[in-house]
Amino acid sequence: MKRILLATVATLFAAAAVAEYPDKPITIVVPFAAGGPTDKVARDLAEALRKPLGGQSIIIENVGGAGGTLGAAKVSKASNDGYTLLLHHIGMSTSPALYRKMAYDTLGDFEYLGMINEVPMTLIGKPTLPANTYPELVKWLEANKGKINLANAGLGAASHLCGLLLQSTLKIDMQTVPYKGTGPAMTDLLGGQVDLMCDQTTNTSTQIEAGKVKAYAVTSAKRLTTPALKNLPTLDEAGLKGFNVSIWHGMYAPKGTPKAVTDKINAALRVALKDAEFVKREEALGAVVVTDARLAGAEHKKFVEAEINKWGPVIKAAGQYAD
Ligand code: ASP
Repeated sequence: MKRILLATVATLFAAAAVAEYPDKPITIVVPFAAGGPTDKVARDLAEALRKPLGGQSIIIENVGGAGGTLGAAKVSKASNDGYTLLLHHIGMSTSPALYRKMAYDTLGDFEYLGMINEVPMTLIGKPTLPANTYPELVKWLEANKGKINLANAGLGAASHLCGLLLQSTLKIDMQTVPYKGTGPAMTDLLGGQVDLMCDQTTNTSTQIEAGKVKAYAVTSAKRLTTPALKNLPTLDEAGLKGFNVSIWHGMYAPKGTPKAVTDKINAALRVALKDAEFVKREEALGAVVVTDARLAGAEHKKFVEAEINKWGPVIKAAGQYAD
């Protein structure tokens, strides 16, 4: 009898906690370093989420390393009460093919909250790199084989995927330099410590516009309309036929987070993604905010599954693994 009573009280407490959600600050884990593009979207989104989440504070925690898998692993094991969330990108779908051992199951260990945006990438170089155009870059790469450094955010990061495809399509090996995120990688590129990087336009367009880095191409299938990027060729038209890499971001909660909570977060996400200031910032940086069915957690999950199936064979063909 006492046991039944205790169980009933516990259920009532849990129901009350769900009804009051959120009644304390929420942490969004960004699996990359501060100052990079994933961090940027998380901080802008946090501002837009605040109001629809009842004015609660949202804390961004950067857990960079191992191409985003450390931060994702942390959230997969966090308490499933809706107060620890993950904002990740395409790395959710590329890491299963890249890592022989994963600390979490991408499709099984999370509740999918919805997709945020799609972002093309750009191929950029250090300011002192002598090549000014993509054809000049290819000549420079041919002449400097064995000496080229390519920055990325670790195996499984978007910058890694793009660099991997670039190397295998050009058939030129480069020395990769992994960082905890492309925020710190950009600092080193600007300082000339590394030669090249592929990164989201949300991190590169400001530097390209200011003429602080060399910009060679965009990775999307079509040219972009963003003023700072519209003169850049696509890699496809520059000679790498079929090259098309577009990054996306989504939000996730630990498996078992109550549906009433994930529904509240999804509703808040839908409001935030219509926030005029958020949309304006994203568009100015070349990102497209999601407005289609992938706003729903279940649809986003189907999309991630399709991405796993799309990238897995490409990565395996390029022969890249990490333990
Ligand atoms: N853009 C990075 C990547 O290459 C990650 C980041 O710092 O946001 O995946």
